[in-house]
Amino acid sequence: MLFSVAGQSLDSLDLKVLLVTKGLKVSLDVYDQFGLTGRIHPDPRACNCVILPDGTIVHVTDVALHMRYLKGAVLLESLRNVRHALGMRTPFRLVVSARGTPVILYENEEVTEVGLPPASRFYEQRTSSGLPYLGNAVLQGVDFLSFQCLWPCDYAKAGYSCQFCYSGGVFERLARRGKPAPVIPTHRDIAEIVDYAVNREAAAGHLQLTGGSTLNPQAECHLIGAILGEIDHVVGLESIPGEVLVYTTPPADPRAIDQVFDAGADRVACSLEVWDEALAEITTPGKWKFAGRRRYLECLEYVAGKYGPNRACSSFVVGLEPAESFLEGAEYLAARGIVPIASIWIPFGKPVMGNMKPPGLDFYRQIKQGLARIYVKYGIEPPGSAGLNVCACRDIWNHRTEIIEGAERPCFAGQ
Ligand code: SF4
Repeated sequence: MLFSVAGQSLDSLDLKVLLVTKGLKVSLDVYDQFGLTGRIHPDPRACNCVILPDGTIVHVTDVALHMRYLKGAVLLESLRNVRHALGMRTPFRLVVSARGTPVILYENEEVTEVGLPPASRFYEQRTSSGLPYLGNAVLQGVDFLSFQCLWPCDYAKAGYSCQFCYSGGVFERLARRGKPAPVIPTHRDIAEIVDYAVNREAAAGHLQLTGGSTLNPQAECHLIGAILGEIDHVVGLESIPGEVLVYTTPPADPRAIDQVFDAGADRVACSLEVWDEALAEITTPGKWKFAGRRRYLECLEYVAGKYGPNRACSSFVVGLEPAESFLEGAEYLAARGIVPIASIWIPFGKPVMGNMKPPGLDFYRQIKQGLARIYVKYGIEPPGSAGLNVCACRDIWNHRTEIIEGAERPCFAGQ
C-alpha cells in the first residue's frame, strides 16, 4: 500500500517512521468524537496510536500535548530542551474529515484515513491498592500490554542514565536532588493490571515487562520470577494467548536468567540499544560502565544456546547511529539466533549528543531493507503479531517479502 506525501510515494513503514519521528498535531475534535468509540486519550501517558489501512500500528505523539506534559513534568534544567522541542514543527495533523472519519493530513493534504484500536476503559482503572493504570502501564497497538518501569534504574540513579531515556532522566534528576523515586507497582498491582487487560477487556494478548537496569541483576531475575509467579497466581499464565517478553539487566552469571524462563517468560531481552561501541559509551554510559558489552553478549548467547533461536532479544534505538553499524550489529546477533528489535528513536524533549533531529527517510529505508534481509536469512522472528507503537521490527517482518522484492527492483517506491 502506497501513500503520497509531498510528491513522494511512501509505503506504510516509510509513513510510520515519518509520523513517529515528527509527531502529529491532534485536533481536539478527534478526542471528542472518537474518545468513546475508539482508544484515543488526551494524555500522552496513554500511548495513543492509529492504525494505517494495511494494519500497521503507528504511535501518536500529539506534539502540543506532549510538550505541555513535559513542561509540567520536568525540572528547570530541562526547560531549555523543552523550549528547543517546542520550536519543532510537525507538518502532520490528525483531524476529523468531512466524512466524519479520522484522517492524517500533511500540510493540509489528506494522506490517509486511519483506524483506532477498540474503545477501552483501561486508563480509567485503579488497582485495589489505589494505583492508577495511567502512567504505570500502556496498551500498545491492538494486542500488547506493556509495563514501562517495574523497578527503578540504578544506573540512572548513579548519574549514568541513557541519553535517550525519559524514565532514566527522571530517576537521575530525582536522585540528584535527594528526592524519592516514583512509586513502583507492587506484584499484586501488576497482576491485577494484566488480569484486566487480558481477561476482562481482552485488549492484550502479549505482555511486555520492563524495568530499569540494576546493580544486582541476580536479584532482578529473582524479582521478575516473583512478578511472573503473581501473574500466574492471579491471571493464569496459560490464559495469556500471546507471548511474555521480559527485559532484564544481564547478570554476571547468565544462568540466573533460567529462573525467568522457569517462571513463564517466552523471550528475554537484554538491550544493547546502540551497536557502535564509541557511540554506545557516550549514549548508554551506565550500560557501558556497569555491565559492559561483553556481558550483554554472553547473556544473549547463553539464552540462544540453551533455549534456541528467537528466545533472546536485544532492543536498539534506531536513529542514533549510522545504518551500517546498526545493521552490522543486527546481523551479528541474528546469525547467533538472537532477535534484533528496532525501536524508532523519538527525538522529542531529550537530545542525544546535543541533537534532536532524526535521520532522513533514506536512513530508515536502508534499515527496513537490511533488517528484512537479515530476518529472512537467519530465520529470525520479532515479538508480537500486529506490531507495536514505535518498533519497526514486527512491521518489517510482516512485510518482509514485499520489502525484499521492492529493494531488488531498480526503482523502489519513492526513490
Ligand atoms: S539503563 Fe534502561 S532504564 Fe536506565 S536509563 Fe538506560 S534505557 Fe533507561
